Amino acid sequence: MATDLRVSLTDLCSLRCTYCMPAEGLDWLTKAQRLSDDEFLRLAALFVKLGVTSVRLTGGEPLVHPTLPEVVGRLAALDPRPEISLTTNGVTLTRSAARLAEAGLDRINVSVDTLNPARFAELTRRDRLSEVLDGVAAAAGAGLNPVKINSVLVRGSNLDEAPDLLAWTLRSGFRLRFIEHMPLDADHTWSREDMVTAEEILAIVEAAGYVVQPVGQRGSAPAEEFEIVDGPDRASWAAETGRLGIIASITRPFCRDCDRLRLTADGQLRTCLFAQSETDLRGPLRNGATDDDLAAIIIAAVAGKQAGHGIGEDGFVQPERSMSAIGG
Ligand code: SAM
Ligand code: SF4
Repeated sequence: MATDLRVSLTDLCSLRCTYCMPAEGLDWLTKAQRLSDDEFLRLAALFVKLGVTSVRLTGGEPLVHPTLPEVVGRLAALDPRPEISLTTNGVTLTRSAARLAEAGLDRINVSVDTLNPARFAELTRRDRLSEVLDGVAAAAGAGLNPVKINSVLVRGSNLDEAPDLLAWTLRSGFRLRFIEHMPLDADHTWSREDMVTAEEILAIVEAAGYVVQPVGQRGSAPAEEFEIVDGPDRASWAAETGRLGIIASITRPFCRDCDRLRLTADGQLRTCLFAQSETDLRGPLRNGATDDDLAAIIIAAVAGKQAGHGIGEDGFVQPERSMSAIGG
């Protein structure tokens, strides 16, 4: 059984990142289509009984889900208690970081692709960088350390900022993870030729004077981890050495070791980000299925998990849902 469950709590979002959502015109799920908190928590309890040990809340933007702290608290009360983490764009995080930590949130990833306000407004189509940076600080202040920072590098936009993002995270004691751009954007503009690869990212970081060493085996973790043992302004670093992660789903796929499952806001189970098919859990749930019935459906779906994402192979087709609707 897979052990890591990623849940898209909502498909709604406060930003419109160009590599994820369209500027406008995405059809939102209706309230009736979305799982209620009770429905989601019933499924979460079942997943945990079946062997899931960590639950990541994502979206869309999980902070726009009005009862997020309560959801975290209810997850923390499950037996066995899963590790609970959150991936967020950080907008409005100042208001909820402390409450989330108190409710039982264990770890947080905040997405920050640029430290330049004008560029942020271009990339996310919203002018909200200062709120995001305040949110990152609030998360660290609430004890959600080490705060992880997710960055997608886009050629012709923020690629030149890779060293600045690294310097900022080293100074602040955050952990940076670069994510390769994946073909999951609503606008379908992704191209393999244009995407920034892990190899290119490492070359840019090293050219900026950082000395990078791979750290052990990554196991089932999506990020390849590197230790930054030396580099510019070392005296300003929060720790003796720093860390950098790179999630290279395209150029260094980790499908063989992947133990992730995804549950969409409308109760569909996906066994791969790039899957063409989903398993409906909401229908049976609302039609009186018992926990045993639901467990049998989940176990069968997991057994059919595809061997690889197939990007670059003949016949690969980008999934209909974009990243915001799947839950990254
Ligand atoms: N809204 C939250 C956020 O932005 O962190 C959570 C959902 S978002 C879909 C989760 C992560 O997916 C973010 O770090 C985002 O940068 C990343 N992401 C979105 N679209 C992507 C794409 N096409 N390729 C790679 N990463 C992507
Ligand atoms: Fe929203 Fe996150 Fe997608 Fe950006 S990456 S549009 S913040 S869901």
